[in-house]
Amino acid sequence: MEQRPVTYHIIGSGVAGLSCAKIVKEKIPSAKTIIYEAGEHPGGRCYSYEDKDLGCRLDNATHVVIGANKHLARFINPAEWEQECRFWDAHSETFSTNYRNFPDLIIKSMTNTPADKTAPEIRKTILWKTFPWNKKQRKIYFSKNDLSQRIINLFTSYADELLLNSKLLKIDSQFGRAAQLTFSGKQVEIGANDKVILAVDNRSFCRLTGETPLGHNAIINIFYRTSQKIYLPDNINFIGISRGLADWIFVNDNILGATLSAVPENPGDLQQLARDVWKETDRLRGVNSAFVPSFKIFYHKTATISQDRATNDKRPLSAATQYPNVFLAGDWTMKDHPCCLETAVLSAERAVKESLKI
Ligand SMILES: Cc1cc2nc3c(=O)[nH]c(=O)nc-3n(C[C@H](O)[C@H](O)[C@H](O)COP(=O)(O)OP(=O)(O)OC[C@H]3O[C@@H](n4cnc5c(N)ncnc54)[C@H](O)[C@@H]3O)c2cc1C
Repeated sequence: MEQRPVTYHIIGSGVAGLSCAKIVKEKIPSAKTIIYEAGEHPGGRCYSYEDKDLGCRLDNATHVVIGANKHLARFINPAEWEQECRFWDAHSETFSTNYRNFPDLIIKSMTNTPADKTAPEIRKTILWKTFPWNKKQRKIYFSKNDLSQRIINLFTSYADELLLNSKLLKIDSQFGRAAQLTFSGKQVEIGANDKVILAVDNRSFCRLTGETPLGHNAIINIFYRTSQKIYLPDNINFIGISRGLADWIFVNDNILGATLSAVPENPGDLQQLARDVWKETDRLRGVNSAFVPSFKIFYHKTATISQDRATNDKRPLSAATQYPNVFLAGDWTMKDHPCCLETAVLSAERAVKESLKI
């Protein structure tokens, strides 16, 4: 009798879920991959869309990738990304090309946690593994625009089926194994050899399992749109800011994006914050704008889990779950690693690898 090919039921179409589909296809070309996504688009926390308010295409959040992110680099084309970067200290108002002078900015940006609160294990991973001090891997890239085009669309073809608006509601078990998945409106039987990878964010995972969510930190992105191209000093499009309001600013033609990570729980008046950040960019550019251009604020309240020591201690130790045929992936599942795109890919590699052992 002909054996049915193994099916991987992947829950979540963020970078972790999409990477799972790609890695499964690389390891078992005959396997079928089905991704179930609760939302209306793939990409999870990383996607682009047409913004009606500013009348242009925007990323939901500007993403920075570093040269040492070799797992992610396998899937993207860094040549398409912006690579020239400068650093500016908002107190002394001086520029630098050497990011080694700004370790706190780098750690805070990568962990979305104040550098002095970041778990030492994650710090170590960043300093020695994710962010080595060697020149080749020291590049910092930003996507300029269109994360969907530059990352997400490259992955989606690896899923045999990508089912949007398919929210997993529960997992039923039989004889100690996951046996059935219930989605809004349908049920899916899990075959004897099939595998399930839960590649959902921590809060969604806890809604499914009844566990207590880990603490989260916020990120604010502000996008300004002017009528003319915006110039930063030295024609650089990408600047890290130390001791300022924003941590990074990015320019893409007439759009300026600002990112503020590890934002306090009550950030206050966001409209005023956006005006103040624009003034800060004025100082950096050595100009005095007559007015603040149109802007759009994204307050990502639960952008990533907090990466302080206590929260890191509660992260999973492996991809294993209570069921031998269900595995975990997602940026928050890799203990001692910063929550970022690279870790999402790394978690997918681990989940698929562990699934092949049974
Ligand atoms: C504002 C912001 C800025 C960031 N900046 C950077 C950066 O500069 N560099 C960097 O490397 N990283 C950055 N990150 C982090 C990066 O976006 C994440 O680490 C990465 O996208 C996580 O991918 P993931 O697949 O683990 O999770 P997610 O992207 O959260 O994907 C999980 C998916 O699961 C789906 N889902 C949830 N529950 C269910 C369910 N029950 N059924 C079906 N589907 C479900 C969700 O809809 C979602 O699509 C940033 C994040 C934010 C929010």
